[in-house]
Amino acid sequence: MSENYDLVVIGAGPGGYVCAIKAAQLGLKVAVVDKRAEPGGTCLNVGCIPSKVMLNSSHKYWESKHHFASHGIIADGIKIDLAKMQARKQAVVSELTKGIEFLFRKNGVTFVNGTATIQGPNFVQVTRADKSQQTLETKYIVIATGSETASIPGVEIDEDRIVSSTGALNFTKVPKHLVVIGGGYIGLELGSVWARLGADVTVVEYLDRIVPLMDHEVGVAFHKALAAQGITFKLERKVHSVMASGKGLALHMLPASSQSTDHKPGDPVQVPEVITCDRVLVATGRRPLTQGLGLEAVGVETDERGFVKVDYHYQTTCSNIFAIGDVIPGPMLAHKAEEEGVAVAELLAGQSGHVNYGVIPAIVYTNPEVATIGLTEEQAKEAGIAYKIGKFPFMANSRAKCVGDTAGFVKLITEEATDRVIGAHIIGEQAGNMISEVAIAMEFGACAEDIARTCHAHPTHSEALKEAAMVAYLGKAIHI
Ligand code: FAD
Repeated sequence: MSENYDLVVIGAGPGGYVCAIKAAQLGLKVAVVDKRAEPGGTCLNVGCIPSKVMLNSSHKYWESKHHFASHGIIADGIKIDLAKMQARKQAVVSELTKGIEFLFRKNGVTFVNGTATIQGPNFVQVTRADKSQQTLETKYIVIATGSETASIPGVEIDEDRIVSSTGALNFTKVPKHLVVIGGGYIGLELGSVWARLGADVTVVEYLDRIVPLMDHEVGVAFHKALAAQGITFKLERKVHSVMASGKGLALHMLPASSQSTDHKPGDPVQVPEVITCDRVLVATGRRPLTQGLGLEAVGVETDERGFVKVDYHYQTTCSNIFAIGDVIPGPMLAHKAEEEGVAVAELLAGQSGHVNYGVIPAIVYTNPEVATIGLTEEQAKEAGIAYKIGKFPFMANSRAKCVGDTAGFVKLITEEATDRVIGAHIIGEQAGNMISEVAIAMEFGACAEDIARTCHAHPTHSEALKEAAMVAYLGKAIHI
């Protein structure tokens, strides 16, 4: 017997659960299926939330060791109880996933726990852990199956010594030496957690810079700040293999420029550089998760990188099947998935949902945080836009002085001809909270002058944004 729905969403991550709730609020009969028993997807269970809990706990420890004394607080003998830290992390995750179950009930969304396969344009089969099956009949299907860690050749993830981000969130002992493969935001956040808790951390990156899409000037400042905290960077290296070596691991790497890792007769001998360590985190990116969904049978096409192909309205190559979130191209971010979830729900309910991809913030939650939105200076240059820059350092911001963390600056980019804000890049303690103001400004097509003439409360970090806006439109700030 099949049950009938207007919409079946596959995947209860931030894309899927938000889509399901919104669609139900707009009057559709909705079921959402997830193979995890707890909704929330990667984000709540093994991504955004647990990583931010660990970043916060480890930051408190770091502060107690490195900053308390300057505030006149003597904190001798502070120790880590890692089991308790991990238990707190799990409790936060659990509270939030239960919160989503509550929201499903409140909005009349049916949550089905099991693995979904698309059986036809209007049928989704769900196989539960006990192998029992159920078929859901539906007018529309939204694929929101997210992504998984991408592996690299020569490195086998065992989630014990060689781990993905999931394993790195669950270490029961602080590693002695953690090598992070990949200098993207996930590797840097988790590297920071364990560095603050006492591990030696080395980040190996293929490119000549970390977080390569970041505004270059901000990226350089970020690299320096993390290096000053004791993280070692090995740039322009490619990892050849990771092998067991006694009780530890030996990571072999070559210059990124070396042509091949396979030695052929006549090739110059390449002696790999070796790092010994006890844990390796593979953080070289994530790939869309579509395996076993049955896409071929219904004619849903994927691109050469495995992402589900969609049009401007998230419609796949099968007309009543849609896709959102990490499984389609675009930044792999929870809030991007959520926006798409709302947009597709609105479209299915006959409204005109859309997402402004020019205004999607991205944040690295290290200390300093880095928050970016819109065009980088390099992108503005490449696009041939005549631009202006307004910069203001936190060193001259009174709140940053009060807190005792004055690292970083605000960099605002405006279009020269119109003064319109086209990008912002903030490195500093409160960068993540500050970027939303720029997002609103950009959504409303605001100019730097609009930000500069808006009264900002004193003393706040946001005053640095106001001052950067003054620099962009007038060429001078008040407090520098
Ligand atoms: P997901 O959250 O991946 O959810 C997909 C769901 O689909 C999963 O629950 C999965 O079980 C389910 N599923 C898959 N296949 C099937 C099937 N066949 N049947 C049933 N269910 C299925 N993003 C941010 O914006 N901010 C952050 O701070 C941040 N931190 C991160 C930290 C880490 C360590 C990681 C790994 C990711 C982080 N992300 C962050 C990225 C963010 O988690 C993803 O962009 C987001 O979760 C994508 O949402 P989604 O709904 O597309 O997919």
